[in-house]
Amino acid sequence: MEMKSEMNPINNPISTIVNHNLLTCRPDDTVAHCAHTMQAHGCSSILVEENGMPIGIWTEKDSLRMDVSNLAIFDRPVREFMNFPVKSIREDVTIGAAAVRFKEEKVRHLLVINDDNTPIGIITQTDVILKHGEEYYLTVKTVEQTITQTAPMAHESLSLHDTLKIISNSPQAAVCVQFEDGYGIITEKDVTRFLSQRQFPQTAGEAASRPLKTISKDANLLETRNQLVKTGFRHLGVHNHNGDIIGLISFSGILSSLQFEYVRRINTILEERSQALRTSQNNLHLAHKIIEASLDGIIIADAEGKIAYVNPTFTHVTGYSAEEAIGHTPALLKSGRHEKGYYQKMWEQLKKDGYWQGEIWNRRKNGEVYPEWLTITAIKNDAGDIFQYAGIFCDITERKNQEKQIQRLAYFDELTKLPNRRLFSDRLNMAVERAKRHDSKLSIMFVDLDHFKKINDTLGHNTGDAILEEAAERLKKCTRGEDTVARMGGDEFILLFPEIDSVDEVIKVAQRIIDAFSKPFTVQEHTLFVTASLGMSVFPEDGEDVETIIKHADAAMYRSKAEGRSTFNLFNPSFTEQGMRQLQIETALRSAIAKNEFELYYQPQAKAPNGNIIAAEALLRWHNDEIGKIGPAEFIPIAEEIGLISEIGTWVLETVCKQLKEWRDKDYPAMTIGVNIAPEQITNHHFPKLVQDLLDQYELNGSCLEIEITEGSFIDNPEQVKSNLHALKQIGVRIAIDDFGTGYSNLSYLRRLPVDHLKIDQSFIHGMFNDEGNRQLIKTILSMSENLGMQSIAEGVESQPQAEFLSEGGCSIIQGYFLSKPKPADEFEKHFQIPTKQKE
Ligand code: C2E
Ligand code: MG
Ligand code: MG
Repeated sequence: MEMKSEMNPINNPISTIVNHNLLTCRPDDTVAHCAHTMQAHGCSSILVEENGMPIGIWTEKDSLRMDVSNLAIFDRPVREFMNFPVKSIREDVTIGAAAVRFKEEKVRHLLVINDDNTPIGIITQTDVILKHGEEYYLTVKTVEQTITQTAPMAHESLSLHDTLKIISNSPQAAVCVQFEDGYGIITEKDVTRFLSQRQFPQTAGEAASRPLKTISKDANLLETRNQLVKTGFRHLGVHNHNGDIIGLISFSGILSSLQFEYVRRINTILEERSQALRTSQNNLHLAHKIIEASLDGIIIADAEGKIAYVNPTFTHVTGYSAEEAIGHTPALLKSGRHEKGYYQKMWEQLKKDGYWQGEIWNRRKNGEVYPEWLTITAIKNDAGDIFQYAGIFCDITERKNQEKQIQRLAYFDELTKLPNRRLFSDRLNMAVERAKRHDSKLSIMFVDLDHFKKINDTLGHNTGDAILEEAAERLKKCTRGEDTVARMGGDEFILLFPEIDSVDEVIKVAQRIIDAFSKPFTVQEHTLFVTASLGMSVFPEDGEDVETIIKHADAAMYRSKAEGRSTFNLFNPSFTEQGMRQLQIETALRSAIAKNEFELYYQPQAKAPNGNIIAAEALLRWHNDEIGKIGPAEFIPIAEEIGLISEIGTWVLETVCKQLKEWRDKDYPAMTIGVNIAPEQITNHHFPKLVQDLLDQYELNGSCLEIEITEGSFIDNPEQVKSNLHALKQIGVRIAIDDFGTGYSNLSYLRRLPVDHLKIDQSFIHGMFNDEGNRQLIKTILSMSENLGMQSIAEGVESQPQAEFLSEGGCSIIQGYFLSKPKPADEFEKHFQIPTKQKE
């Protein structure tokens, strides 16, 4: 696994995190005054200035060195207790480098200065760790592996004076206080508080805060850090399975356990020093000192490959002393794990490029095989001949182990390598806590691919996976390094924008994502269009906790789906109910057939102008006990989205066939029933066979069925649809184009299809007398269908004048409330007994 470079807060300059709230005081200010100032500003340090020059820093830790039995202490000048000289760091130094400084100098505060050496703030270890973001390293270790000492402990009756001694000797700068019935804690922060209040308690018990918050020894450092941030405490007790306190963990404990040195070694020193080695080819003397002190193992060999020099780290890693190694070739370290060809290639490249870098398995003197990261540079003399080789390496056993552990900890999605739900939620929790503290905004975004299930089902999971990987890439390209793109599972992604100034920023990203997804995906030989629907919410406007903003971003995403997909929405309170309802419908739909919740209604169609009922349309009705009645206009699109439409459609077809057989058995006159067929059904090449089988099963003629498809059915696979229509036509089934005039039919294409009826969309009929345009359109459709040799059906006819206008225009068949509303089968049967009927 490679180190994550995309997530690189440690490469940001410290100016991005420094607290500009720089507290200053004069050397003669009293400690009580200074403590009070620090307390009031929630700072843990203060800069002591004299004549505008920084001369010292006084920190909470320094208060521990005071003699608390002496009450005059409160009025002593701070100069007696401050640290000097002031250690400073430039604002353009990276966070990672700052962390190294903290560790090397063993300080916890550094004065941040700008180009002109003007102090601009104080940076603490805590600032660094909060911003660090290196979850990789934090997840690797448990608390138990990190705490090196037992918790410093004071009995409640111990005097404060002696207790403070314990604190100042403890690396955690805190002490656990043992009571009869549990534990409390005193930290240096408490001591500052006492100073500022000008009053010291007498005993540890009086001074302690209770109870001591604890964390299990098995928790990892990431969880611990999150817990520290969440509680706002600087220390947590570490408890074992029996509940005993076995240690204390603090931010600085976590920080020192972070493997900065290691990161630095791998990433920076290796680069810089091998660079230095290359450029100082003629100046090995100069490099000598660095080499001796290097944390990396270094070997220098002559042109024949005989070792001429090794540094102390070499001995440390391999176990061979300089005397033992010199004169041998590096084959001394051969592990036997690599083929001969491996070394051959290495030498070839070295001779050709003068440089080789890679991972290699070697064997220590004690027989142990270990992996190292090795860089070899060929050193040439003035004549251009190689006269030496320099090898620099580090032992990466630890890193390998960590990689394994990291994989095991499963914070990442295997397919896309993105953070998974768990890591996302960790980061979101952190970001929310931070936003609360800094009074800032953050945003999250749900991204759901449209119709992804269809791709998976029709083109297979490999194609689906390739699309998901590509989608992940596109999402990452649309975001910044500090944002998180995570995969929630399936075709759902979630993004975190941890710090935003305004909503506009997120809207811009959303637009970028929509644009990125408007380009086709090429997978194997397929060119596919996969759009995405997005929903965003903003903290704190749209919710003050993690659950709420997630719920609201989800609701906003559902709104985008409802609006026709490939769009984005920012949360709006009106969305929630709708989103919930959609979810409720989805869930209920899955069991609707099994629970027998569907029913078919029938709406008659009459011949104009005499009004004889010649056919009917079957319309699906759904009643769910919890939701109530839901219309097909609402649930059919949802059934399509979740892949249930074919199953429901088959139920409809079979129910119609059953009904037709029942009516025939009752000797009612033969009647054609129109059945609405979804695009997914008519595109399926099994469809004609399904219809044929049902007709056979119920001993029916093809002519008693008319399938109604919409113009949208021709988009995906027109050839298949065409061939299906011909097959259906062959068995006598009639074909109608439903909602005609609203889609985008290709008329010349339509001409080549075996279509019997065009059903003029109801919107034209409803608007007939408001708008001359609608009347024109109706007339055009009527004459066009005549030209194409088809008949037209007007649907949604509600009044006599509408019916008359249509019949005058040559419309052959009428359907609508004017004749009858759709009715359950038993009520519909009455139409058979009254052959001529104009109006209810
Ligand atoms: P559609 O196929 O265009 O059906 C006609 C719709 O217009 C029906 O709505 C019907 O109740 C309504 N309607 C009929 N006469 C009038 C009238 O005079 N005035 C007004 N305002 N409306 C009228 P419904 O039943 O709500 O169905 C809506 C849509 O749901 C249907 O439009 C159809 O596209 C779909 N649908 C219904 N049943 C099924 C089904 O079994 N399978 C599939 N795939 N879709 C179905
Ligand atoms: Mg219809
Ligand atoms: Mg219609």
